[in-house]
Amino acid sequence: RIVLRELTEIMIKNPDISPSGTFSNLDPSIFHKRHLKRVRILGEGNFGKVTLYMYDPNNDGTGERVAVKALKQDGGQTQHECWMKEIDILKSLYHPNIVKYKGCCTEQGGQIVQLIMEYLPLGSLKEHIIASKPGVPQCLLFAQQICQGMAYLHSKRYIHRDLAARNVLVENDNMVKIGDFGLTKHIPEGEGYYRVRENGDSPVYWYAIECLKESKFSFSSDVWSFGVTLYEILTRCDYRMSPPKKLVEMLGPAQGQMIVTALIALLERRKTLPCPKDCPQEVYMLMKQCWDIDPLLRPPFDSLIERVETIRK
Ligand code: ADP
Ligand code: MG
Repeated sequence: RIVLRELTEIMIKNPDISPSGTFSNLDPSIFHKRHLKRVRILGEGNFGKVTLYMYDPNNDGTGERVAVKALKQDGGQTQHECWMKEIDILKSLYHPNIVKYKGCCTEQGGQIVQLIMEYLPLGSLKEHIIASKPGVPQCLLFAQQICQGMAYLHSKRYIHRDLAARNVLVENDNMVKIGDFGLTKHIPEGEGYYRVRENGDSPVYWYAIECLKESKFSFSSDVWSFGVTLYEILTRCDYRMSPPKKLVEMLGPAQGQMIVTALIALLERRKTLPCPKDCPQEVYMLMKQCWDIDPLLRPPFDSLIERVETIRK
């Protein structure tokens, strides 16, 4: 019996050596590379690449579709640590409006780790909205669900830092989920913000003014980004009205490093994105409140849920 127990332990620690169909089924969050069949690329962002796979351990076509996220290229130790953090954060989140973690697929003794998530067939909110042109009530339903996911994230003391239509996923016309936790950070109890040290690519046109000025990210700066996401939804993600395009038009000539300086000056003059074409005034008012210069005056997600719901009804 001792031998059997030791054997079991060895196999749990080294899932790749256990014969398929026996020990490999013990932990449903362990996915084996040999059972993953590539279907197509779903999308690519700055750091990650997401691919649709069929996970078919019985090899008879009865498998399930999963979305697999991997790092785009090997960016060294720091990037690997950020990546493992992203996986741990997603693993700890359970909410109907947050994409579900399913497990990991590990290769080369943990040097390569892929994140397995549920597959959302309609892709990102950005792609879906461009294709389906939803009416205002449906736009507001999506907005409310984003607020619900964000209120939950904030209740766990995480800030997202990259909320945008490209990072929201669509299950069906009545259900969206927040995805991409690549820039998410934990805010310790008693502290109000997170200060970035690394200067990676930043989605500056979604950033609150204090993020641009002082690299200060907080629960309230996520609310600002939600305002920009709400603007994207109501413009139906029309590229001619996109936040980068509109804000650059308003900036006038500025390049490189000067763009952020010019953007700060613009926001300080209280210039904001325009009201989208068929957007109700009360929805535009809500956006503007999310873009208040004073972070403390921006409404928290709990109250945004109610405000959006009231406008919807
Ligand atoms: P990155 O960190 O590189 O920005 P994302 O997690 O945002 O990566 O994913 C990039 C794109 O891949 C998304 O915009 C979306 O189109 C697609 N995608 C990501 N996750 C899923 C999923 N679970 N189901 C379907 N499509 C997905
Ligand atoms: Mg992304």
